[in-house]
Amino acid sequence: MKDIIKKTNECLSCIKKPCTNGCPLNNDIPEFIKLVKEEKVEEAYKVLSNTTVLPSICGRICPKERQCQGSCVKKIKGQPVEIGNIESYIGDYSIKNNLKLPSKKLNKYKVAVIGSGPASLTCAAFLRREGYNVTIYEKYDYLGGLLVHGIPDFRLDKKIVKESIEKILDTGINVEYNMELGNNLLLEDIEKEYDAIFIGIGSNISRKMNIEGEGLNGVYGGNELLEKEIKLDYKDKTVIVSGGGNVAIDVARVVKRQNAKKVIIVYRRSKEEMPADETELNEALKDGVEILYQTNILKINGTDKVENIEVIKTELVKKENETRLTPVNIEGTNYNINCDYVMMAVGSIADKNITTKLNIELDKNNKIIVNHKYQTSNKKIFAGGDIANVEATVAYAARSGRDAAISIMEYLNER
Ligand code: SF4
Repeated sequence: MKDIIKKTNECLSCIKKPCTNGCPLNNDIPEFIKLVKEEKVEEAYKVLSNTTVLPSICGRICPKERQCQGSCVKKIKGQPVEIGNIESYIGDYSIKNNLKLPSKKLNKYKVAVIGSGPASLTCAAFLRREGYNVTIYEKYDYLGGLLVHGIPDFRLDKKIVKESIEKILDTGINVEYNMELGNNLLLEDIEKEYDAIFIGIGSNISRKMNIEGEGLNGVYGGNELLEKEIKLDYKDKTVIVSGGGNVAIDVARVVKRQNAKKVIIVYRRSKEEMPADETELNEALKDGVEILYQTNILKINGTDKVENIEVIKTELVKKENETRLTPVNIEGTNYNINCDYVMMAVGSIADKNITTKLNIELDKNNKIIVNHKYQTSNKKIFAGGDIANVEATVAYAARSGRDAAISIMEYLNER
């Protein structure tokens, strides 16, 4: 406690709350810090619960440098307040002390929530707290989605995920396991049974680079590698990871920790442009992962299996109407890197076998189109998280779930 009070003493209780504005969930950061400072942790948890149900998780894994802590006024002169650590302290305290999330008496409305990642869990919790009868449908026999299979254990302890989910379910949410949308769970059936539906099934299929050699043995999708926990023999092997986001970093660290001789991340832009969280990037370097910036993979060579990749250096060019610098290949700078595996972590796409059967409007990547209320082209169906093109961080996914829950309540009460 002493340690955490010391951290709260750093806070200046800024009236304009820049940290809150930097938080995707708009958590009332100065208020919960003030309450912890006064040793009123239970009250601090109540304040946090107004906007989030995942404090133990977000406090640990949010890219804080780009969000709350990046907006903290103390950062200008040096170190920001350790908001993430204070948030996870409150979340952990609520688990240890069995503090309850609010949940009102059930009303007449039934809502189905499909998927159980951060968007779905948050949507379910915010509906249930107001008395809506919620059932989560999950394709696996466990809940959590990418919180379980998308973030490696060394970054997020699964015990914390399990305990956070138990607290959400404790509010009185029903769960149906082993129910997969488009397979043994049909949207037309649940549409008849429920007053509203939220879809938060994620989009966890690795995007391809569409380069030669991508079909060779030894080429894997980063998302699938993490989700299916594919185990390969990496001893004395060189592994290339293509991409610059958190999935690329996670894949590289997982592989390096499984004794690969060499793991090289190949990223076509510069370090400054890299979307990965800076802390995670530094941890990957500590693990011994190497990074080649401004390098593009042209093709993967091999007869049957991967033998090497051909890469080329890039320069970054400012193009009209482009928000980011565009990498352009520098002619004549090609060279080959010998390797055994190539892991693609250049983004993810939706499973079109599922989304195209939903009879709702999709974008060109087969993701679900939603309006500002997270409502789809079918007014009864809402969507959030990755499948609805929401920025791929836990906090943004959770915000979409929470705000969709508010929209669902508005929709049901206006009918
Ligand atoms: Fe405290 Fe920093 Fe937020 Fe100001 S910006 S209230 S110092 S956490």
